[in-house]
Amino acid sequence: MSESKPLVELTGVTKRFGQMQVLSDINLNIQRGEIVTLLGPSGCGKSTLMRLIAGFDPVSGGKIVLDGVDMSRVPPEKRPVNMVFQRYALFPHLDVFDNVAFGLRLKKLPRDEIRKKTTDMLELVQLSGFADRWISQISGGQAQRVALARALVNQPLLLLLDEPLAALDLKIRQHMLKELKRIHTETGITFLYVTHDQDEAMILSDRIVLMNKGRIEQIGTPEQMYSAPQSLFCAKFLGETN
Ligand code: ADP
Ligand code: MG
Repeated sequence: MSESKPLVELTGVTKRFGQMQVLSDINLNIQRGEIVTLLGPSGCGKSTLMRLIAGFDPVSGGKIVLDGVDMSRVPPEKRPVNMVFQRYALFPHLDVFDNVAFGLRLKKLPRDEIRKKTTDMLELVQLSGFADRWISQISGGQAQRVALARALVNQPLLLLLDEPLAALDLKIRQHMLKELKRIHTETGITFLYVTHDQDEAMILSDRIVLMNKGRIEQIGTPEQMYSAPQSLFCAKFLGETN
C-alpha cells in the first residue's frame, strides 16, 4: 500500500448497543509510526473504539480502513492489528517463552524462526533471563512486558494498548511509560494507546484524541491541547481550570 496514506482511517464511525449510542461520528486518521492516545473519562467509549478497530465488534455505521483496506468484512485474526489489555491475559500453564511464541506456533513457522523471533522479542522487552519462568513467578510489570512481547512478535502494523499500565503501581507505571516509548522507537510500529490519565497521555503521545460521551472533543499534540483547549471540557479535563 501507498506509504503516504494514513495507516488508520476512521470515517463517520458510530456504535450503538441496543438503544444506547456509544460512539458518534468518529473521524480520525493515524499516520504510520505515530503514537496516538485516546484520552477521556471512564465510559466515554475508548475501549469500544479499540474493539471496533480490532474487529471484536462490528461498527453500527461508518468505515474503518487499515493500510488502505476496508475492514468491514475482515475478521479480527486477519487484521494487521494486535491488542494489549489492562489484564494481561497470559496463559498460566505456559512459561514466558511459550507465551510469546504462541502466535508464531499457531502460524506454523519453522522452529528456528520461532526461537529467533521470540528470543529477540524477549530481549526487546528486557526479559531475556526470564524465558523459562512461569507467569505466576513474575511481577505485574514483567507480565505486562510479556503481553507486549506477545503482541509485537508477529509484527502487526498497528498495536492497540487499552490502559495497559492501569493495574500497575505508580513507580512501575512511570518506568513502563519510558519503556513503551523506547519500544515504540525501536520497532517503529504505530501505537494507538488508551488511557484516562492525562499525565500518561502527555508524556507518551505524538497526538492526543480527547473523547467525551462517545464523541471526539479535540485532536492535537500535547502542546496544542494544553495551550489551546477548544472547549471547557477540554480545559477542565486537562486540568487548566482545576
Ligand atoms: P471506556 O473504555 O472509555 O471506559 P467503554 O467503551 O468501555 O468506555 O464503554 C462506553 C459505553 O458503552 C459505556 O456506557 C458502557 O457501559 C457501554 N458498553 C460497552 N460495551 C458494551 C456492551 N457490550 N453492551 C452494552 N453496553 C456496552
Ligand atoms: Mg475502557
